Amino acid sequence: MARNPRYDILFEPVKIGPVTARNRFYGVPHAAGMTNAMPHMRAAFRGTKAEGGWGVVCTGYVSIHPSSDDAPLPFATLWDENDIRSHALMTDAVHQHGALAGIELWHGGGSVINRVSRTPPLSPSGISWMPTHVNFMGNQRSKAMDRDDIRALLGWQAEAARKARRAGFDIVYVYAGMGYLPYEFLLPEWNRRTDAYGGTVANRVRIVRELLEVTHEAVAGQCAVALRISLEELRGRPSAVAPSEAHEVVTLLADVPDLWDVKMDSSPTDCPPSRFAPEGSHEPVIDFVKKLTRKPVVGVGRFTSPDAMVGQIRRGVLDLIGAARPSIADPFLPRKIDEGREQEIRECIGCNICISSWHDSVPVRCTQNATIGEEWRRDWHPERIAVATSAASVLIVGAGPAGLECALWLGRRGYEVTVAEAEDEIGGRLRFETRLPGLSAWGRVLDWRRGRLQELENVTVYRGNRLSAQEVLELGNTHVVIATGARWARLLYSPLEVPAEALEGPRVFTPDDVAAGARLEGPVVVYDYDNYYMGGVLAEHLAKAGHRVSYVTPTGYASAWVIMSNEQPQVHRALAAAGVALHTLSRVTAFDGSEVRLAGQFTNEETSIACRALVIVGARFANDELYRALAARADDFGAAGIKSVTRIGDALAPGALVHAVYSGHRYARELDAEPASLVFRRDAPLPAA
Ligand code: ADP
Ligand code: SF4
Repeated sequence: MARNPRYDILFEPVKIGPVTARNRFYGVPHAAGMTNAMPHMRAAFRGTKAEGGWGVVCTGYVSIHPSSDDAPLPFATLWDENDIRSHALMTDAVHQHGALAGIELWHGGGSVINRVSRTPPLSPSGISWMPTHVNFMGNQRSKAMDRDDIRALLGWQAEAARKARRAGFDIVYVYAGMGYLPYEFLLPEWNRRTDAYGGTVANRVRIVRELLEVTHEAVAGQCAVALRISLEELRGRPSAVAPSEAHEVVTLLADVPDLWDVKMDSSPTDCPPSRFAPEGSHEPVIDFVKKLTRKPVVGVGRFTSPDAMVGQIRRGVLDLIGAARPSIADPFLPRKIDEGREQEIRECIGCNICISSWHDSVPVRCTQNATIGEEWRRDWHPERIAVATSAASVLIVGAGPAGLECALWLGRRGYEVTVAEAEDEIGGRLRFETRLPGLSAWGRVLDWRRGRLQELENVTVYRGNRLSAQEVLELGNTHVVIATGARWARLLYSPLEVPAEALEGPRVFTPDDVAAGARLEGPVVVYDYDNYYMGGVLAEHLAKAGHRVSYVTPTGYASAWVIMSNEQPQVHRALAAAGVALHTLSRVTAFDGSEVRLAGQFTNEETSIACRALVIVGARFANDELYRALAARADDFGAAGIKSVTRIGDALAPGALVHAVYSGHRYARELDAEPASLVFRRDAPLPAA
């Protein structure tokens, strides 16, 4: 198919200093959890984006010196010769597909703890980052930098830039964002210096200018020099000479970098979940930059719509469309637009599971794209899959995320696939969950699979078909996949931190009951020890439906785990806005139909709240009745022509959407595969030269 001429502008080359990007699709720096410890995985992961048509593909954050050590978070290094070789694998993979490779050189300053290097962290004035997120807390405070430290920093940046050039990078960054060292110089809370590097904006910006200058000098016109800068906080600060300090900073540095990469200040606003921010949410903060510089500007905004991208360029907001999440969900996004297949884009749903992977210090995972991070170690490609090696037919029971993903990729392999879904609509848990506040974008999980399945003649989906074991046997398919999902339990929770006895009663509900339309009488108590989104979003939903709602959790925060997915501040704000009363560090111990008894999680202190409906959001168990009924008839499989019966997704082990999709995908990849190919390759750092 031909490209829609409306999108031609996205494919114009863009000159960035001495190099030229082939189009406007820019894979911005983002952590992917692979680091120099997994150099082949990293190279294949980034190389696949280049293959998918991105004009520029960048690394994640790369430390320029051991005094910037973010362990145990997964950061990369460019400290020695070995690191050069490690990064060269990535630049080779990116160049092979005609893209430019960018490297985000990074010094964390007073925000790192240097747990491994055990050097005191450095900061402008001895002020460290004091986060509320326990993952980032530490007891090592920073040293106030003296003039020697500043000279050393400039030397480290220059040396790292020279190494970056030798590693084959085309774009080399100075990173003045997100609480890291150069950013700390920009803000007076961190920077209380009275020398030439503190005080006025012109003084506070000095270190950034010098870092840019030494980088230019080091790359000697061979690479472009980019400045990545956070502008949110600065934009909110008045300036005597400009509309804001952000305007002043950009004016002072206007043409010093070859490229401006502009962003927000904290992860929850920079990478906001779709629950709380729409596509293009950075624009009100960064929209002025292009007016103050002649150099190209790149920015992000979870852009997946080519029309929105064109709008950014035509309206003079951005020159290059930056992406982290959309390039993870669909590494082939540019190619699809180029080939007139934009309706095939696997759109990011904004769930931020990818970000939680970084917090977990593991290679990136994605709800929409099961192949991410698996390009090298499992040889999974986001667009291609091996053709079927047998004439087997497959019956999939259940059309939730797991069943649909499995059906799609088995179908693409060429198997005859039948999907039976009990309900009149496909979608499993998403039938209900996409109707909850802020979760409509998660419907993209279904939309994309529904659309792609329609392209396949060898996959048939039957709705309104609740299959029994007998019916499965009668259908006589070669392989049976059980994707029947999971259900929530009415269990309470013990001080041993495990679900305890069940609480049965007429006014006790689970999310499944709410999904099925149960009529609740208020006041309502939502008791959440699942800790992901469901408890918080249900409380918000019920409050918005007019109930008086209290939210109770044994943890210290509402939806405690969502700190991993950048959602914690917004979840608390949403609950407050909906008028939900919060009871943290509390366990529910009893409910008599009119009152819920609580015990302090650590103190056992007893309290109670009025309640006419208790919704327990806690443990989930697999819907495995069909699987067990079939297993009991294993002797009949031979006569029925059945070779295997396998559970996937929540029916195997209840998890988040990302686990269900991955499980379905993996089944499809591995059917009829050689046993040897089922073991994933283990990556390792390159041996010292
Ligand atoms: P997952 O996240 O693992 O895909 P879901 O709970 O989202 O799980 O989806 C499971 C789907 O399986 C639901 O749509 C449910 O209606 C369907 N299902 C459950 N039991 C049967 C059955 N016996 N026959 C057909 N469909 C079933
Ligand atoms: Fe988007 Fe979620 Fe995938 Fe991240 S994990 S890229 S937010 S779909």
